[in-house]
Amino acid sequence: MESQRVPPRKSADPPCRECKHHYVTYQAQHPWGCRAYGIASTRSPAVAVREASGEPCQAFERKAARP
Ligand code: SF4
Repeated sequence: MESQRVPPRKSADPPCRECKHHYVTYQAQHPWGCRAYGIASTRSPAVAVREASGEPCQAFERKAARP
């Protein structure tokens, strides 16, 4: 029987969509924003943070669960 392997994560970046600092800017040029770092990006802000600093984002805070 062939085992099913889970592929490794491509990145250690935290999931911005699950973070309370993430927001939609409504700007076509930079639709994804991060209030913690004060940035807006075309990609996930965590990717922009890693590329700029060389380190994964350290400010991730999970959103509160919906009731
Ligand atoms: S704090 Fe980190 S995980 Fe949260 S939105 Fe900003 S870059 Fe993404």
